[in-house]
Parts: sequence; C-alpha cells; structure tokens
Amino acid sequence: MRAGPVAERTSARADLVKRSTAIVAAALQELQRGELQRQRRTVLGFAAAGSASRPVLGGRPLHDFCSNDYLGLAREPLVVRAMQEAAAVWGAGAGAAHLVTGHSAEHQALEQELATFTGREAALLFSTGYMANVGVITALAARGEIIVQDRLNHASLIDGARQSGARLQRYLHADAEDAARVIDAAEGRAALLATDGVFSMDGDVAPLPTLAALARRHEAWLLVDDAHGLGVLGAAGRGALEEQRLTADDVPLLVGTLGKAFGCFGAFVAGDRDVIELILQRARSYIYTTALPPAVAAAARMALALSQQQSWRRERLQASVARFRRAAAERGIPMLPSATPIQPVVVPGAGNCLAASRALLQRGFWVAAIRSPTVPAGTERLRITLNATHEDAHIDALLDALVEVLAG
Ligand SMILES: *Cc1c(COP(=O)(O)O)cnc(C)c1O
Repeated sequence: MRAGPVAERTSARADLVKRSTAIVAAALQELQRGELQRQRRTVLGFAAAGSASRPVLGGRPLHDFCSNDYLGLAREPLVVRAMQEAAAVWGAGAGAAHLVTGHSAEHQALEQELATFTGREAALLFSTGYMANVGVITALAARGEIIVQDRLNHASLIDGARQSGARLQRYLHADAEDAARVIDAAEGRAALLATDGVFSMDGDVAPLPTLAALARRHEAWLLVDDAHGLGVLGAAGRGALEEQRLTADDVPLLVGTLGKAFGCFGAFVAGDRDVIELILQRARSYIYTTALPPAVAAAARMALALSQQQSWRRERLQASVARFRRAAAERGIPMLPSATPIQPVVVPGAGNCLAASRALLQRGFWVAAIRSPTVPAGTERLRITLNATHEDAHIDALLDALVEVLAG
C-alpha cells in the first residue's frame, strides 16, 4: 500500500521529533562534557542559628556564603509580618498588569518611597530587575542607534540592548578610556551608556564619575544598574552613587532590584518624571506582565525602611568585608580588588571550580561555582558573598576550609 500524504506528513513529523530528541541529548552531553551543566539544589527549609538562619540541604544546615541577601532582611520577622498582613488585605496576587487593575496603593506608596530614597522625581516598579533593564533599554534606544556597555555588564543589560534593535558596542571592563574611545567612534549615534554599579560577579565598582561626564558630553542616557550597591554601599545605603557622590543629574536612570539587599522580590527604575512616564508607556516588559503581588510591595516597603533605620546591618556587613579580606590575605588566598560584599576567589577551569564548590559544601559552606557563560571561560570563580548575619568565627572557618580545598 502506498503511503498517502497524511502518512507522509506524520512520518516527517516523527523524523523531526526524533532528530530534535537527538539534538537535545547531544546538547546536554556537550554541557556535561564541559562541566557546564547547571544544577539546582533544593533548600528544605531554614534552621534558626543565633541571629541568623541557615539554609538546610540534605538534612543539614549550611553557612550561606553565596546568596544576595546582604542585609539579612529576607527572613527578618518585621518584613515577613508586613507581607502576611498585606496578604490578608490584598490577597496573594495582583490579578492583572499595572495598566489594567493590578496597580495597588502598596505599589504606589513603594514607588514614592523608592523615588525619595534615590533622590529622584519618580520610580517605576517592574516585576524583576531583568525585566526592568530590558524595559528601560528598549524604551529608550532603537534601530540605527548605538548602545555602549561594559563588557562585564549583567546579562539583562545585554539582552535589553539586543531586543532594542540598536547596535551594542562594548568597552573593556571598568575602563573609562576605552568607553570614551567607543562612544567617540559612535559619532553622535550613542543613545545610551549602561553599566552595572557594582559588578555582580567581580564586586568592583564602575568608574561612574568619568562615565557620567562621557554620557553628558555625548548627550546619551546613562543607566546605572546598582543591583548590588543599593542598600549596601554609602552611609545611607544609597549605593555606588552615594559613595561616588553622584546626583540624579549625573545619572538620569538608576535601576535597582528589591530581590538582593532588600531581601524581597521585584525591581524599579528611578528618574525624572517625564522619562519614567515614557518608560511606563513604552516598556513591553512593564506593560504585558502581571504586577508583582501587593504583599511583596508591602514587604519591600518594610525592608526599605529597615535598611535605612538599621544602619548597623550595613556597618556589620562592612566590618565583615574588611575582616574577610584581612583574614584571606593572612592565609595567602588570592583575591580580586573588591571592597563590596562580593568577594570572588578565581579557580580557573569549570571542573576545578565545581570540585572546590563541592568540597566546601561537604565542609558545611555553600559557595556557588560560577562558570561560563556567566563569566569568561578561564576566570571561573567561587563567588563568595558576605552578609550582615555572618559572625567572625564563620568567616574564619570558611577561609580555613578554603585553604584546605585550594591546596586539595
Ligand atoms: C541580579 C541582577 C539583576 C536582576 O535582578 P532581578 O530582580 O533578580 O531580576 C540585574 N542586574 C544586575 C547587575 C544583577 O546582579
């Protein structure tokens, strides 16, 4: 019997499925071979331990040296209670996007408080920092223009540039001279210059005053994504801009996340009223997504208030950073030039880095191995982060374990 057109189509589809299954399997094997496959570890809960709480993996509480909960606010009882009380009033979810019915008084109040905190006219909430960066960049740059970025910028800044249709040109990491070369070469077509404030995988801070001058001279927007600086740097926790004494005039667009030092979820961009209004009108990652739950906004309001009132959290964190660096130097552990809570130790080679991370885990310390493509191949690292709940003894114990593991 001759196969009819339907049978032929079916068999073609079966072929395609078979082929793509093989392609998927090959792609996974390739990742495995390069020791680049990522693995999730399931946190079973948190065990109370003094002022801190420790994540439990496989029945065992660990010392967390890799989360971004820098101020220890994620499980702070006042923040948790603010979320519970707001959930009782507002429910579990926002029910719609901000421009439909999802924008609540909690969101509105949080935006105003974020504008005040950052010294700007207005702030706009996004559901995540990733979406904030994509939204802001696509709202302000388009085909035919050029976007200038640091080579080590966060993936969301890069992806925003790709989605915008503008041409992305990158300069050498934290190199203001190279940034000047790139923006000069754009010959007036540079629409936007974007940089991390604190670099997420390195912990160093961008040369913001020079970048601000460059952006001003070329009449380009300057966007600083201070995901890891806000709440952490500066006496008031206003981040890399406070530390480097930059105003809203110098940096017209400031992006921050509520998921790191503020211990919650969500993100925002702050700027002058008109540019924020334009972003609200244009950013598809703002318009076409459900607003974050009002209870999360309420929790973030409490976290933002506590981060300002309880400066001891920042002071304790800075003391821990200083202690970590001193104690690491004493032990001969090579460090990167970082004065922030991000203190990476480079262990080149994906396999070596993974093995070091696993060996630390066996000793009770959770430190993630960061591999390509998050960082360039050959610069794999243990991304150690400090937080306000660490005690000196934990830091010393981590460093002693690290000496053993690196000698391993
Ligand atoms: C984490 C991070 C983001 C993303 O923020 P989320 O709120 O987690 O989506 C953006 N930029 C930088 C520099 C980050 O480190």
